[in-house]
Amino acid sequence: MESNTIRQEIKKLREIIRQHDYRYYIINQPTVTDDEYDALMRKLQELEKIHPEYLTPDSPTQRVAGKPQDGFPPFLHSQPLLSLNNAVLEDDVREFDQRLQRLLKQNQVEYVVELKIDGLAINLRYEEGILTHGATRGDGTTGEDVTPNIRTIKTIPLRLLGDKIPEVIEVQGEIFMGKNAFNRLNQERTAKSEPPFANPRNAAAGSLRQLDPRVTATRELQLFAYGATLIESSYSPTTQWELLTYLKKLGFKVNPHIQLVSSIEEAIHIHRKWESERKQLEYEIDGLVIKLNFLTDRSRLGTTSKSPRWAIAYKFEATTELTRVLDIEVNVGRTGTLTPVALLEPVNIGGVIVKRATLHNEDEMKRKDVRIGDWVLVGRAGDVIPEVVRVISEQRTGSEIIFQMPSTCPACHAPVKREVGEAAWKCVNLNCPAQRKEKIIHWASRDAMDIEGLGEKLVNQLIETSLVQTLSDLYRLNIEELIDLERMGPKSAGNLIQAIDRSKRKELARFIYALGIPFVGSHVAQILTNHFSSLEQIIEASEDQFLIIDGIGPKVSQSILNFFSIPENLTLLKELKALGVHPIQKKKEKSVKPQEFFQGKTFLFTGTLSHFTRKEAEDLVVSRGGKVAKAISSQVNYLIVGEQPGSKLQQAIKKNIPLLTESEFEEKIQSDF
Ligand SMILES: [Zn+2]
Repeated sequence: MESNTIRQEIKKLREIIRQHDYRYYIINQPTVTDDEYDALMRKLQELEKIHPEYLTPDSPTQRVAGKPQDGFPPFLHSQPLLSLNNAVLEDDVREFDQRLQRLLKQNQVEYVVELKIDGLAINLRYEEGILTHGATRGDGTTGEDVTPNIRTIKTIPLRLLGDKIPEVIEVQGEIFMGKNAFNRLNQERTAKSEPPFANPRNAAAGSLRQLDPRVTATRELQLFAYGATLIESSYSPTTQWELLTYLKKLGFKVNPHIQLVSSIEEAIHIHRKWESERKQLEYEIDGLVIKLNFLTDRSRLGTTSKSPRWAIAYKFEATTELTRVLDIEVNVGRTGTLTPVALLEPVNIGGVIVKRATLHNEDEMKRKDVRIGDWVLVGRAGDVIPEVVRVISEQRTGSEIIFQMPSTCPACHAPVKREVGEAAWKCVNLNCPAQRKEKIIHWASRDAMDIEGLGEKLVNQLIETSLVQTLSDLYRLNIEELIDLERMGPKSAGNLIQAIDRSKRKELARFIYALGIPFVGSHVAQILTNHFSSLEQIIEASEDQFLIIDGIGPKVSQSILNFFSIPENLTLLKELKALGVHPIQKKKEKSVKPQEFFQGKTFLFTGTLSHFTRKEAEDLVVSRGGKVAKAISSQVNYLIVGEQPGSKLQQAIKKNIPLLTESEFEEKIQSDF
């Protein structure tokens, strides 16, 4: 045979096999027997073996061609793969619809309703119609490139079909394992004394992340495509429905249960139907996805930082199981919040073994009346932390123990505080090891002490190497210690030491904000420093002294009092002072604090002052409790004399009214401050 004819023959064979693959795997309508199919495949393999020069990666023979890998290289998605907002309640879904109607100024919004397959999201890139990359979702921006494994999945085309093939497209879909395949796999694993997978989702994820694509090839994974980014394409669909139709034409498997609806009530109806019928499906679903149909409207709505505004995941109610509370412990979060957690007799809920469930806070725990030893219903919805739904109080024996929240922090043993109107107990110890990372990052942040170069990564390094255990340790660092850190040169070490040094003389308001007192943001810190002239005054102030300040309510004042009542915090403040951290109080323009010298006295000005305008000087007097007169009278206690005084000076001298020069006046203003 002439070589050109052979090339044609190979090409023809591949097209025939692709068509059969499509009919078999995608639309379940095979037109040949398995024997006939195998014969075609053998013929192609033979020809490719004799003529390796015609072998291409998109050939149907090349699905399992990769070698075991060392790891998965990163893959940058052309557009972030965002996660969807979740709803469980019908009202939340109606609210979603209302919001879209409002934003789009439409009375009715059209949606596509899709099943939410319980698998893992994947992004597939095709260039000139050929699969070039397949990557997991990862953090949404960058995923893991698992192309050799992706190629083994028969429902993923290696080459796109049809006549409207885009130059570059990224197709998104869900990789999953069917229930039968899952059961077969677990039987095999059990027979080989390997641990079975807990659920099909984990099995799919584990199979896709195999370093050896030959293992993935045995795992019967499937794909449903549900979205696409057309990067270079002459064709662009206008609706989600058109897009899904287009994906089918390109050779993808799209879930057959998609529905186009013209109202949210129809979507809710479909949800109710699947809630009872989901068990009949051959794969697991955990809800529905409701997507705005018109793509132009989508771009009008845009996305928040985490999720698109045009879609919502409408999940099924949490599945619940019965188990016992073995104990209750308290966790300290990174912001100091104490959360009671029920330790459970391990229980399998929807395929996941649950050993702990959150009790949220003291009020919730009391409202549900959860006691140690209780039988409880525990619920889990999707990736949400499992929670105790309710107690089966009929099963109580009388030996159950009521749990008391601790009065000290489990991580640092400092007394814990509960803020006014808050459900949570908090540890506000600045040195609490459970929180120190957050505290130091906040301390160094731009609006606080503004220590340039001290970001999250470096804080982690400093804590891991034990160079910094408390805030005050920052001011004990030296260049030699810093240079020993990874990725730290002498220059950046020097810069950091300088930045830390500069932070010793920041404004008091920044310092107060940097302390991270609950409810004391930069604005409140500013109000405090406008009112008080030193840190000491704030520490010693009583609740009444806070409450007379405009902008400070009982919640804030209680929080400040709590903070300074912790001995650990006062010790730390002393340490900081000893290490040279002396926040400065900016010169006051205004003060509402009465000052003895001015209190109740009347002042008169004459001439021009060099450091103040007349208005500023008068305000200073008034703010210190004094009064300002317009003319000489027996009421005037002092005449303040500037440059080129007027006739008032002579009159004052006649009446024996004491005189103040501008510099004497300034001295009086600044005394006590
Ligand atoms: Zn603590």
